[in-house]
Order: sequence, then structure tokens, then C-alpha cells
Amino acid sequence: MQRQHIAIIGAGTAGLATAIFLARQGHHITLIEQAPALTPVGAGILLQPAGLVVLDLLGLRDKALHYGARVDALVGDTLSGRTIMHTRYADLGLPDSSHGVGIHRASLCHILDQALAPLPHKRLMHTRVDSVAEQGRGVRLTLSRDGATDTLEADAVLIANGSNSQLRPPALVRYDRQYPWGALWTMQPCSEASTALRQRYDGCHTMAGILPTGITPARPDTPLVSVFWSLPVADMPAWRDGRIDLNTWRVGAERTWPDLAPLLAPLRSSRELIPATYRDVIMRRWAQGRIGVIGDAAHAMSPQLGQGANMALADALALAQALSNATAWPDAWATYHRLRTGPIRFYQRMSRGLTPVFQSHSRSLAAARDMAFPLMYAVPWLRKQMALTVAGLKTGLL
Ligand SMILES: Cc1cc2nc3c(=O)[nH]c(=O)nc-3n(C[C@H](O)[C@H](O)[C@H](O)COP(=O)(O)OP(=O)(O)OC[C@H]3O[C@@H](n4cnc5c(N)ncnc54)[C@H](O)[C@@H]3O)c2cc1C
Repeated sequence: MQRQHIAIIGAGTAGLATAIFLARQGHHITLIEQAPALTPVGAGILLQPAGLVVLDLLGLRDKALHYGARVDALVGDTLSGRTIMHTRYADLGLPDSSHGVGIHRASLCHILDQALAPLPHKRLMHTRVDSVAEQGRGVRLTLSRDGATDTLEADAVLIANGSNSQLRPPALVRYDRQYPWGALWTMQPCSEASTALRQRYDGCHTMAGILPTGITPARPDTPLVSVFWSLPVADMPAWRDGRIDLNTWRVGAERTWPDLAPLLAPLRSSRELIPATYRDVIMRRWAQGRIGVIGDAAHAMSPQLGQGANMALADALALAQALSNATAWPDAWATYHRLRTGPIRFYQRMSRGLTPVFQSHSRSLAAARDMAFPLMYAVPWLRKQMALTVAGLKTGLL
């Protein structure tokens, strides 16, 4: 497509990766981010082989490995120590996809930001987009910054402003709700992290996770792990205002999983464990006219399958491919939908179906899970399907 002026809303994984691809194609990019700077917020993200392929195409795979920590498997044990989940990337039998990478969100944004910085583009930081509308043969955005409002006109806009987006065209949204469970998370130094994402389950009501997360640009000598603890959203106000006592909670958590003890010991205040919620967003299509929606804004899901950043990177690549072969926006969206519909629908269904199996009060789901998962791993075909699913490489059920 001829050189377009494309506004991208949000400098997260989706916005930054898309900006790099499209700036390299010669498009005129304006990236708009509400935060004053790309600060080191967030915890560990699991980059799957599918996401690493995209980083490879951007020339950033080695940097991701430098900052991140290699992850070879996902291992989940019950309270009794019985392993019910054991997905190994090696079961894929694909040399290029033999591992994932646990990485701090700040490190991933830093790597993408550094790749974008030398490319011609415009950035509007500390600027919030309040509305988006099609106008004639382009789009018009209303912006606010420090109480002042402004407008921006472009040929097209990509909405990449995360799961809580209020900018998604309502006609395209089929479903948007918050999951009833979220998680508490903290980052802690740990020099002897395993090379697995490890989880511990007690029924479906209790789940903890430890993800090796590598280093950050700000602390290059300190390897970190991310610790996650499942929590119903209804209990979050009690956590935030201190009604759940940190020490009482810590004793229970360490009883559930003694490996947590050294990681929780440094905590002095419940505020050091940060509550996170997730949304389940399903859109009918991801574009209309000159407005496209990508990343979490397009398909927010629970982090159960660890796909958020990978899906954002895959969206960026698909968009770049769609634009490079199209002569007009309708052609580009047709290609984009052809490339992305299968994977997005598959992962949304899996994420929605699996989440209550790990985060709910259901006893029957817990019993079925603890019995069925080990049996599934005994069947080589199913074991490989599970590895393909976790790796982000599935495009549909079969
Ligand atoms: C603060 C934060 C912390 C996170 N922590 C984790 C984590 O610990 N582990 C994990 O797996 N995932 C985390 N995520 C989610 C993870 O980043 C995404 O699932 C994934 O990277 C896909 O990213 P995205 O670019 O679609 O959206 P996001 O990463 O959510 O990025 C969206 C960006 O849009 C900006 N934005 C929002 N609204 C506007 C607006 N109106 N105008 C301008 N800019 C706007 C936001 O400030 C943000 O920078 C976090 C996201 C955020 C925003």
C-alpha cells in the first residue's frame, strides 16, 4: 500500500511491535501513549515460541534472550506434590521452538522501544486518546494532555490500548467482561530459578506460580522471578485496604507451597503484592473502515495460557504482512482477518474454557482435572497438542 499516515494508540507490546514493522515499510507512524514515559511497570510475561518467531523477524530474539530467562517447560503439581501438568517445549520436536522466555514487561517494552527509536516516527507521550472516529477518507482522534484537548488526523488508526480499552468500536464488540478471578503478583530476586514455569494447585481455589523473569535494564545484575497467587476479584478490596493480614496469608501460602517461603520472606507490606484483573473480550471483527484493533484491546484473555504478549506480536506481524500486499484498507483487513481469525478464536475459547479449571470454587472440575491431565500426557498425540497450544502455534482445534 502507498505510504499511509497511521496513528497507533498505546505503546505496549502490540503498539510498539506494530510501529516497528510499519515504520520499516515506510509508513508515517504517530505513536500515542498516555503514560509520561515507558516506566518499568508489570511483572513477568511468558514469551512463547510463536512470539519469539516474531521477535526473530524484528531482529530482537537475542536481546529477548539476553534480558529474559529460558523456560523449557510448564510444570504444575497438586498440594500432595503429584505432577498433573508437564508440558515441555521439546515435545514439539521443532528445533526453532524448543523453549519459551520469561521476561519482565519492562524489558520487553525496552527492547521494542530501542528498535523503534532510530526509525522515522512521531511520538506523543503523556497524551491520552479520548475518542476515535472515521471522517471522510481518514480518521480523527481527540487527544488530551494536561487538561488541554487537541485533535489528530490520520489515514487510519490502530487501537492498541490494552484490555480496558474504551475506544473499541462498540458495533464490533460481541462480549466484554471481567474474569471473576485475578491474581496477586510480586517480583523477587532469585539467582537459582529453575528453567520451568512452575505452578502449585490446591483444588481450583488455590493456585500459585513462579516464573523465571530474567533481568531488567535498570537491574542488570539481579535475576528476578515473578510470583503469582490466584485471588477472586471480590477479595481484592480486602487485600488492598489491609483487611487480609500479610503474615497470616504468608503462613497459608507457604504451607501450600514451601518453595514460596524464601520469595515471600522479604515482603514487609501487603502493598508489595499487586492485584491484577483480566478481561475476556470477544470482537466480531477486528477492523472496519480505517479503524483496526490489535493486542489485548482486540482479544483480552486470562493469562492462563500465557498468550497475551505473543498474540500482540502475532497481530503486529499479520498486520505488516496484510499491509505489504494490499492496495487499499479493505484488502488489508481481509488478509488480516484471514491470518488472525483461526488463532484468535482458538486461544480465546481455550483460555475461557481452561480458566475455571484453575481459578474457581468448583470441586468437580478440580477432581476431573487432577485425574484427566496426567492421562492426557500419556497419549503422545495429546501431549504434542498441549505443547503446540502452550507454544502459541495452534491455528484451530485440529
Ligand atoms: C501496566 C501494565 C502491566 C502489565 N503487567 C503484566 C504482567 O505483569 N504480566 C503479563 O503477562 N502481562 C502484563 N500486562 C499485559 C501485557 O502487557 C499484555 O497482555 C501484552 O503485552 C499485550 O499488550 P498490549 O500492547 O496489547 O497492551 P498493553 O500492554 O496493556 O499496552 C497498552 C498501552 O496503551 C496505553 N493506553 C491505554 N489507554 C490509552 C489511551 N486512551 N490513550 C493512550 N494510551 C493509552 C497504556 O498506558 C499501555 O501502555 C500488563 C499491562 C500493563 C498496561
